[in-house]
Amino acid sequence: MKRRTDIERIPLGEGIWQINEYDLVNCYLVEGEEKACLIDTGLGLADIAAVVRSLTDKPLTVLITHAHEDHLGGGIWYPEVFVHPADFRTAKLSVNPFVKMWYMHMQNSKRKRHAVSYLAAFQREYKPKLLPLNDGDAFDLGGRTVETYFTPGHSVGSVTFRDTRTGALFVGDNVGQLTTLQYPRAASVEVWLKSAEKTLRLAEDAPIYTGHGKRPLSKDDLETLIGWGKVLVAAGNVKPNKVKTKRTEQPFPRIVYRSSRIK
Ligand SMILES: [Zn+2]
Repeated sequence: MKRRTDIERIPLGEGIWQINEYDLVNCYLVEGEEKACLIDTGLGLADIAAVVRSLTDKPLTVLITHAHEDHLGGGIWYPEVFVHPADFRTAKLSVNPFVKMWYMHMQNSKRKRHAVSYLAAFQREYKPKLLPLNDGDAFDLGGRTVETYFTPGHSVGSVTFRDTRTGALFVGDNVGQLTTLQYPRAASVEVWLKSAEKTLRLAEDAPIYTGHGKRPLSKDDLETLIGWGKVLVAAGNVKPNKVKTKRTEQPFPRIVYRSSRIK
């Protein structure tokens, strides 16, 4: 089946693009003078590789913030991708056409103009080889380097990337407009909180680009999330349904968690 390439590519300046797969998930392309890297690959409903090739012809390294289907699914377009080893198991489990169909259903019902055939969920030519990605790994693209920071939380192998040219952070789903900590193989809220604080220390005044939603997370949003994280950790015996979701201005940001994960 021929896949579509009609997805949005939004130039963010300084050689960075946001590639938005049907308003479901964001990938980011960072281009240096000699090489480029793709941060996350989307669901793979669209031909992400063709979209990336329309933006750069430089040698490409594929980096994954965490191994959920909507970030790793487009890995089918590449022979190998870098993933933190703590997420290798998740990578094997999450490559699931039914999960993909669920995302597609959300997308098709809300956004008819982007409707994609459900058959696309079952098209999987091969799986990429997973290469280990560790804290401190740096990818020199020429004139800029993409650094890796281990930030477990949303998944036990979540990482954050930092671009040295702009200071921009790419956080995947670890902190964002819907910070979910209840999925299988998520870390505890306590572990997530340390990672969120680490992200805040890295943040400087540069944008924090997230896996979902178009607007970057602000430092204020991140501080708000950290504040709630502290409340959740301190209130380990609070009935979960009472504080299941916290939010300020609709609908951004909030934390969703499972009480059993609070230590
Ligand atoms: Zn995720």
